[in-house]
Amino acid sequence: MDCLFCKIIAGEIPSSKVYEDDYVYAFKDINPMAPVHVLVVPKKHIACANDITAENSFEVAKIFEAIPKIASVLGLNNGYRIISNCGPDAEQTVLHLHFHILGGEKLPGKLV
Ligand code: 5GP
Ligand code: ZN
Repeated sequence: MDCLFCKIIAGEIPSSKVYEDDYVYAFKDINPMAPVHVLVVPKKHIACANDITAENSFEVAKIFEAIPKIASVLGLNNGYRIISNCGPDAEQTVLHLHFHILGGEKLPGKLV
């Protein structure tokens, strides 16, 4: 499978890692949209939120268990935003489930 984030997780493409455990990998976004912009991904390939099932939702739970640890490591003591784009209408560009963690400032562009 030709997946950019699977290659990053495997170490075939370099990344700035900020967190890793058995299920989760987190690294700095190459094109940061905030002072802190990190991508949190499951090590198992899941294309987007549409592909979350009873069989793989454990991987997603592990991501949300990791996020407070990641936020702490990144010093996001004043809060942060979590975004996951799924599909063309959301302009998802990498088809491996990921959660953008944005923070480090009062964030602009609040949609909801
Ligand atoms: P999406 O648009 O799918 O929600 O988010 C994909 C994100 O991946 C974008 O914010 C983009 O900057 C980031 N990205 C794309 N290619 C690379 C890469 O090679 N390395 C890193 N660290 N981030 C990438
Ligand atoms: Zn993948």
